[in-house]
Amino acid sequence: MIDISRPVVFTSEMRSLISQKIADPKFTHKNWGDDDLLEIRKHIRDHYRKEQIGICAYCKKEVSLQSALNCHIEHIAPKSIYRDFIFEPKNLCVICADCNEIKREQEVMQDIPDTVKKGATRKKYPRSKAAFKIVQPHFVKYEDHIDVFNGFYVDRTPEGHFTIGACILNRRLRNFGWEKAYDDAAISEAMNKYLELKDPLERDRALRVIKKLLIAV
Ligand SMILES: [Zn+2]
Repeated sequence: MIDISRPVVFTSEMRSLISQKIADPKFTHKNWGDDDLLEIRKHIRDHYRKEQIGICAYCKKEVSLQSALNCHIEHIAPKSIYRDFIFEPKNLCVICADCNEIKREQEVMQDIPDTVKKGATRKKYPRSKAAFKIVQPHFVKYEDHIDVFNGFYVDRTPEGHFTIGACILNRRLRNFGWEKAYDDAAISEAMNKYLELKDPLERDRALRVIKKLLIAV
């Protein structure tokens, strides 16, 4: 199962307002906060908050269930770069305030090869994960790309690696310097071993070793 299986669906009134906005050549990402888009923003936030069961798409921690302050609407491909995808349901999700502040406008799309067209921009929203550098919740299952244990994030794939870096998911360790208290070599060895294992029982055992190493601080 992918993380988000049901993209937001807009009402016909919302769709006509969106078409009107997009058709206006003066409309940019800076208009995202316009008053007349308030209802649409609320609709998007409510939908994804429910669809994601109140969990941030990038760090998997809780987003706020009432306030909009810790439940930001995320444009996976940044709205400042991809104006045409501002209302694209598969480009939207909700994330926590920290992920929002850290990720900001980072490019998440794979480069379009030069052979396609010089200076080409994407017009149609991609249909698969291959177009993204980031763990795209509409196309993949988080667990296939990132392992989280004891608040520590370990990549399983290049997309996982990119996401951990783009959102600085190991920010607690970084900010509070906890990593100084860990036995880095032992943890690193245990993690490498864990990632190589296929057998679920052996993986489970390796995971317990890592947890012990992390807890024994
Ligand atoms: Zn987050």
